[in-house]
Amino acid sequence: QKKIKKNFIYHIIDQDLSKNKNLKIHTRFPPEPNGHLHIGHAKSIFLNFSIAKFYKGKCNLRFDDTNPTKENVKFISSIKKDILWLGFVWNDDIKFSSQYFSLLYKFAVQLIKKNLAYVDQLTKKQIRDYRGTLKKPGKKSPYRSRSIKENLYLFKQMKKGLIPEGHACLRAKIDMESPFIIMRDPVLYRILYCKHHQTLNYWCIYPMYDFAHCIADTLENITHSLCTLEFQENKHLYNWILNNIDINVKNRPYQYEFSPLKLEYNVLSKRKLQMLVDKKIVNGWNDPRMPTISGLRKKGYTPDSIIKFCEKVGVTKQNNLIQLSTLESCIRKELNETSPRIMAILNPIKIIIENLPECYMEIINIPNHPNKPEMGNRKIIFSKEIYIDKFDFCEYPSKEYKRLSIGKTVKLRYGYNITATAIKKNQFNNIEYITCTYDPHTIKNNLYIKKYVGIIHWISIKNTISAKFKIYKKLFYIQNPELKKNFLDYINTNTLNIKTGFVEKSIMMNLSIRRYQFEREGYFYLCCSILKDNFLTFNQIVTLKKNKQK
Ligand code: ATP
Ligand code: MG
Ligand code: MG
Repeated sequence: QKKIKKNFIYHIIDQDLSKNKNLKIHTRFPPEPNGHLHIGHAKSIFLNFSIAKFYKGKCNLRFDDTNPTKENVKFISSIKKDILWLGFVWNDDIKFSSQYFSLLYKFAVQLIKKNLAYVDQLTKKQIRDYRGTLKKPGKKSPYRSRSIKENLYLFKQMKKGLIPEGHACLRAKIDMESPFIIMRDPVLYRILYCKHHQTLNYWCIYPMYDFAHCIADTLENITHSLCTLEFQENKHLYNWILNNIDINVKNRPYQYEFSPLKLEYNVLSKRKLQMLVDKKIVNGWNDPRMPTISGLRKKGYTPDSIIKFCEKVGVTKQNNLIQLSTLESCIRKELNETSPRIMAILNPIKIIIENLPECYMEIINIPNHPNKPEMGNRKIIFSKEIYIDKFDFCEYPSKEYKRLSIGKTVKLRYGYNITATAIKKNQFNNIEYITCTYDPHTIKNNLYIKKYVGIIHWISIKNTISAKFKIYKKLFYIQNPELKKNFLDYINTNTLNIKTGFVEKSIMMNLSIRRYQFEREGYFYLCCSILKDNFLTFNQIVTLKKNKQK
């Protein structure tokens, strides 16, 4: 087994195991099917599944589906797909909080019978006002002192659909003066006349997250219920509920919190991501600019790189903003090792080599990876007409300019030195082509090296496939849009730039290879392994170097 870096949760489990050797470690990942998974969820998935694996325990996948108004079966399938793609497999069948609705109802009745829950008929706003604040104790609802019998009757009326939405709810009777606001008689059940994707129209009352979660954990024999820091106070309620219902288990679950992942220049909240989709700022949840698992996959990220990232970020209780470069370095490092090199011209401009005959064609054999001979070689063509990138030529260069300009010599990567002689412009004053001479003694294997100012990439026009290149910028121009109320005001402009150019023809030999390093350009992902209208389309996954964005 691979060595793992134990975080504080592992230390807690180790202690629990030292007290109880027979404890079967059991975790769960509990997404609500109200959106697609994002990179923050990957952190939780990685944590929960890795713990189960390390302790030879189990990890459940449970859809926490207690709010039918925002949920949808299409999210269920996308969540399953993303977890499997990341390489994790859940224990047994998939679980749903909704499968426990009948049991949850019974436990609610039990609390009423113990005089620990009551049907409240204050409005939503009144409940909020009565709750008080950190400085101000809450006020008891006038309905709080109803008899058990009346509460049982009204709760049944709620279940039967005889009370309109918003006109009654079930609340725990705890302490309206508790220093923990969550303990000031939290709502356990509300009325929602809404069809549920699993239970259809059977229920019109639905349990709240806090009531359902701790009971579902218990019923599934979860030992360690891991969630993010926002739920720290909810733990009091989690324990209160489990302490007050009659539920028989060998080992009851305990909740532990860790800091949620926050990634700079991104929002990681399904509600906010949904807004980006709804406002058509991106093309759906799987847009490569989105921090979703499906977006990263579409951009060209690998599951391994996302897991490496989760490992690197670690699990603590400290809230911090993770740099985008941390994520990018994970994929860059992997692709540096694994991706074949190829030449691609994103902004083509033509070079005509004067001292070559029209029909000249030389085959040059070059490696697919600079230091991995096992990745093989390929053939490129050298001929009279080639393309280079227009940013590798400058009409009026400064002294420091290290690429092609009139009178200056550059080396063609794996090829000859060329020296620019003249510029040919069209009637609109745009460069049509540049003429050069090549030096036949500057042979590709560097036996005879002449002076040159730089090395540039190139493709013979006899060796091209047309391609579109999609270059993405960060969606937000401020580092922490999550802190802004009007986060949509901080969206970058032109976050997708599509260029049209060429890649080497040799790429057609095996279109199942999807990730490449385009020499001097960056790492790119072949979006679709077939030609469409004679074009291949690539997404830029990441630049070659940190902070390098052309
Ligand atoms: P969001 O706030 O994005 O809507 P959520 O917490 O409401 O997310 P759930 O579907 O309820 O989404 O989350 C499933 C699990 O993923 C929970 O255990 C939650 O704690 C965890 N999770 C959600 N966001 C993050 C994050 N940014 N970092 C780590 N874990 C997260
Ligand atoms: Mg949630
Ligand atoms: Mg949320």
